[in-house]
Amino acid sequence: MDKTEYQELKKQLLTKKKHGYDLLSQEEQTAMEDYCAGYKVFLDASKTERLCAAEAIRLAEAKGYRLYRPGMELKSGDRVYSCNRGKAVMLARIGKKPLDQGIQLAAAHIDSPRLDLKPNPLYEDSELAYFKTHYYGGIRKYQWVTIPLALHGVVALKDGSRVTVRIGEEEGEPRLVITDLLPHLGAAQNKKPLAEAVPGETLNLLLGSRPIGGEEESGRVKLAVMRLLHEKYGIVEDDLTSAELEAVPAVKACDIGLDRSLIGAYGHDDRVCAYAALKALLDLEEAPEKTAVCILADKEEIGSDGVTGMQSAAFDTFVEDLCAGQGVTLRSCFAKSFCLSADVTAAYDPNFPDVFEKRNESQLNYGVGLCKYTGARGKSGASDADAETVAYVRRLFDEAGVIWQISELGKVDAGGGGTVAMFMANRNINTLDAGVPVLSMHAPFETVAKLDCYETYKAMKAVFQAKD
Ligand code: MN
Ligand code: MN
Repeated sequence: MDKTEYQELKKQLLTKKKHGYDLLSQEEQTAMEDYCAGYKVFLDASKTERLCAAEAIRLAEAKGYRLYRPGMELKSGDRVYSCNRGKAVMLARIGKKPLDQGIQLAAAHIDSPRLDLKPNPLYEDSELAYFKTHYYGGIRKYQWVTIPLALHGVVALKDGSRVTVRIGEEEGEPRLVITDLLPHLGAAQNKKPLAEAVPGETLNLLLGSRPIGGEEESGRVKLAVMRLLHEKYGIVEDDLTSAELEAVPAVKACDIGLDRSLIGAYGHDDRVCAYAALKALLDLEEAPEKTAVCILADKEEIGSDGVTGMQSAAFDTFVEDLCAGQGVTLRSCFAKSFCLSADVTAAYDPNFPDVFEKRNESQLNYGVGLCKYTGARGKSGASDADAETVAYVRRLFDEAGVIWQISELGKVDAGGGGTVAMFMANRNINTLDAGVPVLSMHAPFETVAKLDCYETYKAMKAVFQAKD
């Protein structure tokens, strides 16, 4: 076999993974930068699921989306959305084909790991006031100490009204912090395993140190803090019982790297896919063939349970109502539907090669990562998409010029994780995981590559614009 023949055969038969920047045109690189600038603005407005839902609705309404009401007359090309309790959003662009031909779905989640306040959070110890927290989602606790934190959320009052809390986000505002031991006294802590070095009960937010009242009084700093909260929000300590207050990193999204090829921010998981799905839907010019639906779900990080999670009947109700308008049953619609479970995946990190299996891992700048299965301990907790579904997506992406790669969540026995994929597949919807590879996933500050963000947007568009 001569050299040319060999090279030809190699090209014909073997996979060659191509770097995204060798495939992306100059024109597309400009579009990518524009897209990522919009994404950073979206992130800064979306520090919690409630804020993210509100921002998504604001963007949707600006593009002509209207609040959906069951029984509403809808025709091809119409744009509607529904909001579930302020924390999850479902949007639909009505397609040319009837709903018994199925819908094209993209499901992402908009909740991110963080520190929630406990129902009885406020206390004073040694003339310092604190809020007690209970972490939400899988965090590495040691990462959340000694970083500036902001507090967001709502306090629901007995009269049915709601107070919005926002502290530490604006320039010049005070921040909150969780302290850590100094190295000089850290000898014993240093010897503990990482997971135990910072116990959950020490994740207490420092709120203040200035007392009020006479020196004979007790709890003076706590009272001073409560007085500040009362002045600003009109609430009393009891009201904190019915509140959802979340401490999140007080950082803004920014470019990372001298070449600005990356974005660092809190909450890429999974707002990076949520934004891609949302933007792709909003950018559809023509009515799609099949009805295109984007779901931005809550509670993924704690198992997708609850009324606003992907297991909630709220999603079925929304689609069922749309189906009822066309005299179609939900089950016949689901049976022909396709869902891209749009969630982030672990990017190969050369600093930690031991936990990755390089041949099947997604790498930064190689595009959106397709994940046939997630799960742990032998694919447990994964929907494990069938070969036909993967082939369908390969074709869809290749035809649309989407840069994509294969992805797995680390070495077989290294750990694992899940997404909303199984909850969609359990509904008899063909489902495949795909999303942006992330470095330091679930950390207060995660990193993604701009190219992968943009390709994920293109991937979502390909799903919504699919002809079959
Ligand atoms: Mn996720
Ligand atoms: Mn996650």
